[in-house]
Amino acid sequence: MQSVHIQRIMKKNAAMGPKKQSQFKPNSNPIVNSKSSNSTVRFTSVKLSEIMSNDLKDKTLKELEQIIAGLGQKKYLAKYIFKFIHAGDAAEISQITPLSKTFREKFIEHGYYISQLNILNKLTDKDGTVKYVFGLDDGNRIETVLLLDGKRRTLCVSTQAGCKMGCLFCATGKIKFRRNLTAGEIVDQINIVQKDSGRISNIVYMGMGEPLENYDSVVKSVKILNDPAGRNIGIRHITVSTCGLVPAIKKLAYEKLHPRLAISLNAPTDDLRTRLMPINTKYPIAKLLDAVKIYQLKVKERVTFEYVMIKGLNDSLLHARLLVKLLRGIKCNVNLIEYNPHGGCKFKGSGLEKISRFAEVIEEAGIENTIRLKKGSSIFAACGQLGANLNNVSSTGDSIRHE
Ligand code: SF4
Repeated sequence: MQSVHIQRIMKKNAAMGPKKQSQFKPNSNPIVNSKSSNSTVRFTSVKLSEIMSNDLKDKTLKELEQIIAGLGQKKYLAKYIFKFIHAGDAAEISQITPLSKTFREKFIEHGYYISQLNILNKLTDKDGTVKYVFGLDDGNRIETVLLLDGKRRTLCVSTQAGCKMGCLFCATGKIKFRRNLTAGEIVDQINIVQKDSGRISNIVYMGMGEPLENYDSVVKSVKILNDPAGRNIGIRHITVSTCGLVPAIKKLAYEKLHPRLAISLNAPTDDLRTRLMPINTKYPIAKLLDAVKIYQLKVKERVTFEYVMIKGLNDSLLHARLLVKLLRGIKCNVNLIEYNPHGGCKFKGSGLEKISRFAEVIEEAGIENTIRLKKGSSIFAACGQLGANLNNVSSTGDSIRHE
């Protein structure tokens, strides 16, 4: 189901009729072959992706300047638009009041619009964790999680609807991959949660999907979020996580902006990692760590390794010693995450005692580590649980039912 917003744009454009549409430049109006002769508007060759490419929320400041110059206006106006969208939460072009009325109308006539994610559901765990279920313009759904830790308010954002990577322990990996999110859809998760729940201090790209598989949108969204004319979120407060896409990690090392890097490792040997994470067949641990070293050489920052602790599988003291051996010489922090059960997998969490002993071995070797206990598990918002209950969410916003 498409959002009311997109439907409105489609109807509005269609209602202009073929004569007015023919005045548009190629690609400026994606609605063609529409019939508006009666109350039922039929669209025979509308491509949603083309409409979405006209989303102003999906544009960097530089891209907005180019659009504006293309419409014969002064480039400096782009800053107003960018600011109104990303710092002022403008939901409609008509709200960008520094632009003249004529110019705003011209924008709309050319098919430009500002997208809005739709909150389908909001669930709060007793530990304060909040999960948002968002509806996308094409009817897909994603989840975003707000984690509270004192003054630290971290938002875990999704980058894809579904995921292709198939990690054995992850609920999202069980959902069919639908599509990549646009940069606008990634950024809007922050915009909406910030408007709803207050200031966000940190952003982690660890929600649904493999961020580096949606490389261009992820990098673009980091640029938009970091831009001083908009949200102005410091680059050190943005972390991009990956299951280990080696070429993309190397490519990221050569970007102008370098977010913090987190690697979802989860095993100290190739045999075990391949069992848990199929991507390891293509990019085994040695290649992955080489890419991490290249990133670190460029960025000179500590890298985080995520290690989900699964009972009886990767949590022995021998695994801990192998991990120490593997990470020797890499400036890093290891996050030991208690496995969060979900219906799609029979694994169990290691338990605090086991995790603590594992942590001691790492600690003794001088590797910084943090034990991350379950947060938001009662609302299926914990690490590895996103999407576990998506099929139970009604588009009208009924609550998810939990056992
Ligand atoms: S852990 Fe990340 S990469 Fe692996 S299946 Fe889940 S969402 Fe995808």
